[in-house]
Amino acid sequence: WGTTVGGGGKGLEDKIREKDKADRATVEKVLDPATRLIMLNLINNEILSEIHGVISTGKEANVYHALSGPRMDEQRRTLALESGGAVQPVCGEQQQPVHLAVKVYKTAILAFKDRTPYASEDFRLRAAYKKSSHRQMVKMWADKEMHNLKRIRAAGIPCPEPFHLRLHVLVMGLIGDSHGWPAPRLHNIKFEDTTLDEALATWTDMYRQVLGYMRIMYQRCKLVHADLSEYNLLYHEGKPYVIDVSQAVGHEHPRALDFLRLDIKNMSNFFERKGVDCLPERAVFNFIVL
Ligand code: ADP
Ligand code: MN
Repeated sequence: WGTTVGGGGKGLEDKIREKDKADRATVEKVLDPATRLIMLNLINNEILSEIHGVISTGKEANVYHALSGPRMDEQRRTLALESGGAVQPVCGEQQQPVHLAVKVYKTAILAFKDRTPYASEDFRLRAAYKKSSHRQMVKMWADKEMHNLKRIRAAGIPCPEPFHLRLHVLVMGLIGDSHGWPAPRLHNIKFEDTTLDEALATWTDMYRQVLGYMRIMYQRCKLVHADLSEYNLLYHEGKPYVIDVSQAVGHEHPRALDFLRLDIKNMSNFFERKGVDCLPERAVFNFIVL
């Protein structure tokens, strides 16, 4: 990852830098003209200073690593610092940029097809959804993610801080180290330098923390994640961080408890595989909702 911070007068092409050629190809392939324009605006408005490589390419979204620009205010930079750390100092740079994750929802017609039923949560949202263009539908998911992240964060659950939303592009704090490397997903972590007992203690601890998050999310945020898995939890500074919350539903949603049971099952299956002595799913369910 390059760490030089670009000055003014450069084009988007210069500023969208890449880790290597494969990344550049990916960046260029996925950024449709409308998205490129949004990215360009974020750079021109000095909210971002650089857009780096791809962190993830998914069915519904791509996530990029970016650096903050001088117009990203101090308060937000401080919050971002807590999760991602400052970029290594650059000579002559007045303000230290921070690492960001930019989630770009795909506007392709089929990307969000499977998700449509979730929108039935709110009658007005469903009506609007039916009438809207694909681009607008995708914007609604980005909107929901921003809104849900705020609620989850306000309840003290570790998750990325959402900073800016522009149509289907969401800028948030990067959960990762001071070099801009994103934190691993629970799915990817291995404890190689520890004894089996220590690893098991850590997994057990994480299992308990996740159950705690689910309870707070339900009780205080009135939300069910609805896609909770080892792929949507990042491990950073000894604790799990919740991500990917655009599909989270309000607890009054007619299928909220079905989604919750599924989330519980996913977590039990995963942590059982790690050797954790999980509670019966029924007991977990009661712990969360009662
Ligand atoms: P989707 O699963 O719909 O593609 P996610 O929100 O789960 O979208 O993001 C995809 C991947 O990008 C995640 O699994 C994670 O590895 C990475 N990622 C997403 N947001 C962040 C973030 N704020 N900080 C670090 N990594 C992130
Ligand atoms: Mn995900």
